[in-house]
Amino acid sequence: MTERDIIIIGAGPAGSTAARLLKQHDVNVTLVDRASFPRDKTCGDGLTPRAVGMLEKLGVIETFSETGKRIENARVVAPNSTGILDVPMPAPRKTPPYLYTIPRLTLDDALLQHAIADGVEFLDQFNVTEVNIDADAATVIGKHNGDPVELTAKAVVLAVGANMKLLKTLGFGPADKHIVLAARRYYKNVSGLSGNYEFRFDGVPLPGYGWVFPLAEDGMANVGVGMFPKADGSPLPMSSRQAFDQFVANPAVAEMLADADPVGPVRGFPIRSDFLRSKTHSDRLLLIGEAIGLVNPLTGEGIDYAMESAEIATHHLLRALSDNEFSKASFAAYDAELREKYGWLFKFCETVLNKALNKTALNTLVTVAKWKPNLKELFSDIVLGTGDFETPVTRRQILKEALWG
Ligand SMILES: Cc1cc2nc3c(=O)[nH]c(=O)nc-3n(C[C@H](O)[C@H](O)[C@H](O)COP(=O)(O)OP(=O)(O)OC[C@H]3O[C@@H](n4cnc5c(N)ncnc54)[C@H](O)[C@@H]3O)c2cc1C
Repeated sequence: MTERDIIIIGAGPAGSTAARLLKQHDVNVTLVDRASFPRDKTCGDGLTPRAVGMLEKLGVIETFSETGKRIENARVVAPNSTGILDVPMPAPRKTPPYLYTIPRLTLDDALLQHAIADGVEFLDQFNVTEVNIDADAATVIGKHNGDPVELTAKAVVLAVGANMKLLKTLGFGPADKHIVLAARRYYKNVSGLSGNYEFRFDGVPLPGYGWVFPLAEDGMANVGVGMFPKADGSPLPMSSRQAFDQFVANPAVAEMLADADPVGPVRGFPIRSDFLRSKTHSDRLLLIGEAIGLVNPLTGEGIDYAMESAEIATHHLLRALSDNEFSKASFAAYDAELREKYGWLFKFCETVLNKALNKTALNTLVTVAKWKPNLKELFSDIVLGTGDFETPVTRRQILKEALWG
């Protein structure tokens, strides 16, 4: 029998969080990643209050006091560019009352270094191509620094994000074509930065949105765009690069960028947000983070769910290790916990995406919500997770707030 308890594939926020939490319970854990760190990850770099809450819980928030920017407001700009809705973060409840931006180059490396400092074994330049499961062990097969390698453990955690190739090889590929395409670029010397977490629906193909997220360095911002698939499965109208070019040419954004200097190229990457239809486990295998489509279908944000699912998976792995029971049937409880926690939220966001992310609805919503603080707060609670997000919100509740709130 193998000496190693758990191998985690992928050292993004999901993998590094799970590795560290397991190590804190004296689990013999090895974390592998095909990249060398620090490595960048194409992202908007926005952390919701849920994600900030996880950083606080993990005791690492202080690490980002200089490289992160604390943000108190979200701003939504309607497709007509004139409707502007400011959404201050509500008083703290389950999560802290603020957002953060932290470049992924910094965030992911810091989370990894905390895991290593706690004793996690980390192997970089380790590209996994296969995982074999048998009665006694799980074997991870790949290349480490270019040389063929095999490692065995009692169980494996897949935290490979949107690496569709490996997921498909292992039978966990996306259940449908519901893939978001997104692209971003860094800029310095951006003028008129509001200091808010800015979501813009002007100048982008709908359903989709653009963002301008200020970073800690003065005048620096992460600017990007995401295009969401329609419910009928029709192809996206353009490439993410074309959507990005259209967004930054939009007069309001072009004005902000008129004297700005791009830092690095425009980078595009897919986002997998099909949690409602994804497979989360098998014999000796658990999946966490974006590998199970845990990215908000409405906002494209997944750092929060990546860390939260890592924590949930940790509890189930600890139980499996103590019972020496790693069957698919025993991991069904992990799936059930995820579905209970996130199912309604993802269903709700998919409904809003399909019914309300059009010009008429958004222009109206932004205007109405300005005068309806309860409606504003309800949406922030659901989408940014500032409230008691484990209690399902009904459509009747939303309608009530919209009409009478
Ligand atoms: C343009 C864009 C903007 C986004 N903006 C935001 C945002 O503002 N806020 C937010 O919360 N989320 C955002 N997201 C989503 C967010 O990036 C993901 O949800 C998040 O990174 C998921 O974390 P993870 O740990 O599950 O996976 P990842 O962060 O993708 O980490 C996966 C790791 O696995 C490694 N890996 C993959 N395959 C292999 C292999 N075969 N062998 C070894 N290692 C492997 C990779 O190198 C990587 O380090 C955005 C995504 C995109 C594309």
